[in-house]
Amino acid sequence: MAKFVGAHVSAAGGVHNAPKNAKNINAKAFALFTKNQRQWQAKPLKAEHIQRFNEELQKAGIDRKHILPHDSYLINLGHPEEAKRQKSLDAFLDEVERCELLGLDKLNFHPGSHLRQISEEECLELIAKSMNEALRQSDNVTLVIENTAGQGSNLGYRFEHLRFLIDRSIDKSRVGVCLDTAHMFAAGYDIRTPEAYKKTMEAFDKAIGFDYLKGMHINDSKAAFGSRVDRHHSLGHGHIGLEAFKLIMNDDRIEDIPLILETIDESIWAQEIALLYSFVER
Ligand SMILES: [Zn+2]
Ligand SMILES: [Zn+2]
Repeated sequence: MAKFVGAHVSAAGGVHNAPKNAKNINAKAFALFTKNQRQWQAKPLKAEHIQRFNEELQKAGIDRKHILPHDSYLINLGHPEEAKRQKSLDAFLDEVERCELLGLDKLNFHPGSHLRQISEEECLELIAKSMNEALRQSDNVTLVIENTAGQGSNLGYRFEHLRFLIDRSIDKSRVGVCLDTAHMFAAGYDIRTPEAYKKTMEAFDKAIGFDYLKGMHINDSKAAFGSRVDRHHSLGHGHIGLEAFKLIMNDDRIEDIPLILETIDESIWAQEIALLYSFVER
């Protein structure tokens, strides 16, 4: 069995710092923002930084397929207003291009929000359209849709939402999903016991299929089961508990993909990574 665990590390000061930060916590995978996630505009990636990224990646011994870049929080591919949706799509296309420049083959994003102006289905149709535009304008990047907690008007809180987007995709070979455990749990998918885990993962396999699983976010949840509130917590400190993470670390359907911590205390990421590896039964 091969598990690749890491965290969403900082790329402050340049993308080349992300692999460095990953190495420092003994990560075998990592996530990063390739630009400031709270701003629309970003300077183009410098050739020098790309080269240093490649060098640091080699030093860290991390394979590119175990890197899961995350897009900006500002982007809403399903925005009900056309001009704002276009602004999001333009920013998303820039993110796709940045991934391609870094030789990264995945981009993780949240589907989008209807902002209570249109129906869920209308919004999903708009997201699918935006995704198809990104697929048309790129060659190598797989669009990795993240499930959400369903806070506010965010879509992606049902497996069926993700399935809807896959079904409408013009290139299913370049669409995947990322399962966030805290989001699943808050959305009402229980994984706390072996029985609950089995049931939820069977529902996932039926609705989407493990072939589409391109990464996971490994988080405990400060928010209660089914609360539809998105609040992460350190492993074992939230409402999910450690059993779920033991089950994940021993699930042989979850192989060779980035498993990314987005837990709230980065000072214990190295310990959390070691803890997850200690769960693997031989
Ligand atoms: Zn996310
Ligand atoms: Zn996440």
